[in-house]
Amino acid sequence: MNDDRTIFDSILSGEIPCHRVYEDDHVLAFLDIGPLSRGHVLVIPKERAAYMHELSDESAAGIGRVLPRLCRAVMKATGCEHYNLLQNNGAPAHQAVFHVHMHIIPKFNDGSGLGLKWSPGQLGDGETLASAIADAIE
Ligand code: AMP
Repeated sequence: MNDDRTIFDSILSGEIPCHRVYEDDHVLAFLDIGPLSRGHVLVIPKERAAYMHELSDESAAGIGRVLPRLCRAVMKATGCEHYNLLQNNGAPAHQAVFHVHMHIIPKFNDGSGLGLKWSPGQLGDGETLASAIADAIE
């Protein structure tokens, strides 16, 4: 475990409050304090890891196991039909809290929710790149 405490450690320990929506042995989910839309939920592992690539299989599985259920709950509670899952890694990638967290962000017709700039490029070296990534998997 790294030593860099974040505000999410304080939430996990109960030092600061949150609006909790779910908890189990591996995972805590609570309302985002600055929601992009109504029902914006954060899902965090109890394990302290700054980035997704540092997370244990066990914690990752814990998050994956509960995500669909949480998405269904957000949909039911807010009436949203659409939503984004977002998970930022690194300050240039818009990460502000360095403890892994998955955002569930409802998308409503009023324009609230996640704004996206998506600028597709060309896939030139797909075969080489796919092999390089495949070979790098531990
Ligand atoms: P990110 O940019 O992916 O690191 O997002 C961090 C998120 O944490 C932001 O959406 C913040 O609004 C949220 N956040 C920060 N502090 C708290 C807090 N005390 N309770 C709930 N959400 C928080």
